[in-house]
Amino acid sequence: MSGQPLFHPPIPAHAATWEGIDWEALVDAALRCRERAYAPYSGFRVGAALLAADGRIYSGCNVENRVLGLTLCAERGALSAAVADGRTSFRALAIATTATPPCAPCGQCRDALAEFTCDLPVVSVTAGDHEATKWSRFTLQDLLPEPFDLPQPGPRPRSRGSGKETPRRQR
Ligand SMILES: [Zn+2]
Repeated sequence: MSGQPLFHPPIPAHAATWEGIDWEALVDAALRCRERAYAPYSGFRVGAALLAADGRIYSGCNVENRVLGLTLCAERGALSAAVADGRTSFRALAIATTATPPCAPCGQCRDALAEFTCDLPVVSVTAGDHEATKWSRFTLQDLLPEPFDLPQPGPRPRSRGSGKETPRRQR
């Protein structure tokens, strides 16, 4: 616990860098979490793995509900797990489904992720029997070029990572 407020995380203006990320490990975490997906209604099992700035990986799977609108996506499940553990700065996201071609996050998840980073490198894979068979890559900025933005009252909190204040978004 940092002891600092969680209400407004430091948001890098452009975080989508493909360098220095262990994509194999991140995809593997998404594939493994996909096996725990609860998808009895659609049968469309999804796993996601979110890499926090400190190197920790947070996984999520989709959790369907008989009230279909209550279904939680894997990406937001991973995000919730990370935030609950005090992580609000992220470097990369991997998604595993059986979709061909590999699919991008849904609109809700794009906005949920954009709350914390203006951009994020995303790899989506098609899960085969034992490993990924196809890969696609996106950036969050490409997927959501004009995210919803809500001006926040008061001064911006200082970044917890570098000690430098970072702008919420650059236009
Ligand atoms: Zn989603």
